[in-house]
Amino acid sequence: MDWKKELKNNIVSVEQLKQYYQIFNKDAHVLKKIIDRHPMSITRHYLSLIDFDDPDDPIAKMVIPSIKELDITGSYDTSGEKLSTKFIGFQHKYPQTALILSTYRCAAYCRFCFRKRMVGISKDEIFQNIDRAVNYIKKHLEINNVLITGGDPLMLSTKILKRFLDKLFAFDHIDFVRFGTKVPVYLPQRISEDKELLSILKYYSDKKKQIYFVVQIDHPREITPELIKAVNMLKRRGVILNNQTVLMKDINDSPDVLAELQNKLVSIGINPYYVFQCRPVKRVKNHFQIPIYSAYKIVEQAKAKLNGHSKRFKFIMSHKTGKIEIIGIMNDEIFFKYHQAKDPQNNGKLFKRRLNKIAGWLEEFPVIKEES
Ligand code: SF4
Repeated sequence: MDWKKELKNNIVSVEQLKQYYQIFNKDAHVLKKIIDRHPMSITRHYLSLIDFDDPDDPIAKMVIPSIKELDITGSYDTSGEKLSTKFIGFQHKYPQTALILSTYRCAAYCRFCFRKRMVGISKDEIFQNIDRAVNYIKKHLEINNVLITGGDPLMLSTKILKRFLDKLFAFDHIDFVRFGTKVPVYLPQRISEDKELLSILKYYSDKKKQIYFVVQIDHPREITPELIKAVNMLKRRGVILNNQTVLMKDINDSPDVLAELQNKLVSIGINPYYVFQCRPVKRVKNHFQIPIYSAYKIVEQAKAKLNGHSKRFKFIMSHKTGKIEIIGIMNDEIFFKYHQAKDPQNNGKLFKRRLNKIAGWLEEFPVIKEES
């Protein structure tokens, strides 16, 4: 069955969910309200990974709505995307990187998505004009790479993906293009069964143009034989895969799970890239975020179990001012470093805050007043 038809079989309603879960009527009513606001969509492949006998199954929690989503503490734009938007669907936050919001659709919807404001909901922020992007990139020679994201760009037709690559790789100053995708997890056959896509990827690799897939694998159980097959097919076409993981409450907030994940990634040829502090997104923060203090301890304990190759990832807070690495804790102070700063003057800047053991985001740490 082709992948577009397969998507039509997704679980999208509470009635469908009831075939797998016992959902009481009062909860069903609330879940319907939540789904009306932020749609649910679960591929049959991902559904097959859920342990329905386990009420705390981490795989289920990532895609099945919870009444905890009624908590609207937080923001819908935690990384300052609005401020980085140059025109609809086109962001330029860091000098070297342009970002394109290519679609609002995904194969399945993660309940913790930081673009929850738009995924599955609205085309309003979606890129519409490739010629405008081409003109912008032509004038900005400092841009050496483009991140095509969304939503999930692998939801676009192969023809459109080719168009992106044709246009972007026409520039000498574009060294590489990245696709941000969770399709290898949710719908691996989108890759493994699309010969045309695979041949386009190979075509550009043969022309010495580098394509990266920035995948998001959050739990070791998401690494399935089907995912490995898709990953191997990509690698054989010259694509390099880097992984980013969101550290989340009751999903992967254990040193053992995090270490197992990074080891498994390396064993199948995916590079550990980032572990992200869960952003304080509305309907996500109080559901999935753990304090940075606890998160830091988990990351360090996981690293203690890993070889150097598997712990290359950086533990990052993707803040509106840039990607901030959480470096360490000493006494009652916590240390941060700008890994990638919106203001280039901040690049590499080391700074500290007073430790607050329940803080989940930068602003929740008190600024230290220097003594004169
Ligand atoms: S696949 Fe990515 S964009 Fe889509 S819902 Fe999940 S995190 Fe958000």
